[in-house]
Amino acid sequence: MRNLLVLGAGTAGTMIVNKLHKRLPRDEWTITVVDRDDDHHYQPGYLFVPFGGYARDEIVRSRHHFVHDGVRLVYGEVDRVAPDDHVVHLADGRALPYDYLVIATGTSPRPDQTPGVLGPEWRRSIFDFYTLDGAEALHRALEVFDGGRLVVHVSEMPIKCPVAPLEFTFLAEAWLRERGLRDRVELAYVTPLDGAFTKPVASEHLGHMLAERKVEVVTDFMVERVDPDRKVLVSYDEREVPFDLLVTVPVNMGADFVARSGLGDELNHVPVDKHTLLSTAYDDIFAVGDASNIPASKAGSVAHFSVEVFVDNFCRYVTGEPMTGRFDGHANCFVESGGGKALLIDFNYDTEPLPGDYPLPGLGPFRLLEETRTNHLGKLAFRWMYWNLLLPGRPIPLPAHMSMTGKHTPNRK
Ligand SMILES: Cc1cc2nc3c(=O)[nH]c(=O)nc-3n(C[C@H](O)[C@H](O)[C@H](O)COP(=O)(O)OP(=O)(O)OC[C@H]3O[C@@H](n4cnc5c(N)ncnc54)[C@H](O)[C@@H]3O)c2cc1C
Repeated sequence: MRNLLVLGAGTAGTMIVNKLHKRLPRDEWTITVVDRDDDHHYQPGYLFVPFGGYARDEIVRSRHHFVHDGVRLVYGEVDRVAPDDHVVHLADGRALPYDYLVIATGTSPRPDQTPGVLGPEWRRSIFDFYTLDGAEALHRALEVFDGGRLVVHVSEMPIKCPVAPLEFTFLAEAWLRERGLRDRVELAYVTPLDGAFTKPVASEHLGHMLAERKVEVVTDFMVERVDPDRKVLVSYDEREVPFDLLVTVPVNMGADFVARSGLGDELNHVPVDKHTLLSTAYDDIFAVGDASNIPASKAGSVAHFSVEVFVDNFCRYVTGEPMTGRFDGHANCFVESGGGKALLIDFNYDTEPLPGDYPLPGLGPFRLLEETRTNHLGKLAFRWMYWNLLLPGRPIPLPAHMSMTGKHTPNRK
């Protein structure tokens, strides 16, 4: 028997084991997946929690429910990979051997990486919404917020779902207006980027939306520390941004065991070939989803599209055939804009988000880079698709590779 060991039963890991269980001969393969606990979180749902949108039981489900019975699910904290011995050590002393290893342990917010964030103001006037506990604490704080400076802050790129802080800003602005508080709140968006987003056409569009909503945008802000006593963010070039309520997206980092195993870059993401997801250092290790260092958005959609390519490639690779599939960095994200509307962006390594229709030209039903009600309904419907189609590894009628069909290239000066 050959052993496939997958670390992490989140979005990517769960899809991988469920799809490969159907594809690999059962008399030849044992498939094992490891995760630390039984709580699978639908992370896109965190965005709505601060505004009273979802309750905990709508976004947390039992992990084992989604892992096929023929796959061995092991609960434990991964402590270290010993790549030369082809073995993974768990924190409780168990050792799991492998013939092929897939690292799918994602990336996590690390508030400890910015001095002052975890000080006396943490979860008093400094919050995050990249964890469920953080999003719930922020909800309680917003319920009693009655005015002042609300600052939304991105510490460092890459972060998972790079549009989520923008979505939070749009939703907060709409929420304050609905509550009659907008006139009493100064809203600021503070980013290390030189604009609202990483890609020029979308950045211009989203920047315009922030300006329309009278959100002050502070760019190129490389945070050095937070001063909790004076309630200011301080950058390396000594600029200061004051806040009454700070909503920060902390530095996102891959799992510590990746660093301990000598497998990561400076943010503990695993260097891989961006088309095949094979480790650049070991020919029996892959990294899929947020855990890898591919230059695509860290997003569930990227995990989904890349898993499609990975699974076909993996089935060829283990029989000695070349991996002919090439992941193109395809990402597809709904961007909530408040008032029951959303935009949709669709892009890959080479093509930035462009306006147009998706997936059918002239018909949509979704509009790219345009705020519509249908896009918002698409975002809400995605939660159902996640639990019922995506995680079980059922086919979804969306191509893994980005298509130019329906997209319009704007004339640039
Ligand atoms: C606020 C927010 C909004 C988002 N919105 C969107 C969106 O609208 N659209 C979109 O496409 N994506 C969105 N995302 C991103 C999306 O959730 C992630 O990109 C996706 O979950 C990545 O999947 P993954 O399998 O790589 O990692 P994860 O799903 O995070 O899974 C990693 C798993 O590894 C486990 N693990 C980690 N370390 C260890 C260890 N040492 N031992 C054992 N187990 C371990 C974890 O418990 C976890 O289950 C959002 C994320 C956030 C935080």
